[in-house]
Amino acid sequence: MKKIVLITGASRGIGRAIALDLARAGYDLWLTYQSNAEEAGRTREQAEALGARCELLRFDVRDGAASRALLEPLLSQEAPWGLVNNAGIAKDGVFIRMGEDQWQAVLDTTLKGFFNVSKLVVAAMMKKKEGRIVNIGSVIGLSGNAGQVNYASAKAGLIGATKALAREVARRNVLVNCIAPGFIETEMTQGLAKEDVLKQIPLGRLGQPQDIAGVVRFLLADDASYITGQVLSVDGGMH
Ligand code: NDP
Repeated sequence: MKKIVLITGASRGIGRAIALDLARAGYDLWLTYQSNAEEAGRTREQAEALGARCELLRFDVRDGAASRALLEPLLSQEAPWGLVNNAGIAKDGVFIRMGEDQWQAVLDTTLKGFFNVSKLVVAAMMKKKEGRIVNIGSVIGLSGNAGQVNYASAKAGLIGATKALAREVARRNVLVNCIAPGFIETEMTQGLAKEDVLKQIPLGRLGQPQDIAGVVRFLLADDASYITGQVLSVDGGMH
């Protein structure tokens, strides 16, 4: 039987690239999204064309009850081999003018999302005594960035959560790591001034979603079975 990987925020961008890469590598997929049914359907179609069996789940990762309602029926049947906590948003602005809603939405999507989904999945993985969790952090969680105090806080928090959970579940052969992407070309980075961004990247180009997908595939593979609690920077040399 094929291994299953659950990817949150798989309708677009990095999440979609991870889904298609893993479909190509022979995994079956549970894909989640929040609202963009059209793009989510497209990801599913493309993944199925690559041979993956797909479950498509629509829920807001900030909502614990909705997370349970959608995931528990699947988890009662089988535990996925992998979980990729990828859903995330940015709502940038200078700190002194940042609204509480702007602060809360970003922290909740990353951290409550991590809590709601991982808590359910890790229990199933521990029972099975195997599993891999890959959290999608950010270079901003390591370096900070003006105008992104909310985003940096969320991603730094996710890095702390990665390290703590890795220690907690290692004895059950569940491995937890984080990838810290630099600037990747997706809708999230569309509004940025490219010349300013490029100056910060030693490799002189923005990353592509596939640059992240390949590293996720590695962290899910047998070759990565002695790596846990780590943060892998995939940022063209930024940090
Ligand atoms: P996109 O904006 O392209 O896609 C975001 C995805 O997350 C979508 O699938 C969206 O679903 C989903 N999502 C957002 N909020 C929720 C929610 N509350 N519940 C469920 N799903 C949600 O982002 P990217 O692909 O660029 O980013 C993916 C991850 O990578 C994020 O965690 C981001 O912080 C991180 N990252 C991105 C970088 C970049 O340069 N692009 C750099 C560093 C990190 P829907 O389509 O339904 O709205």
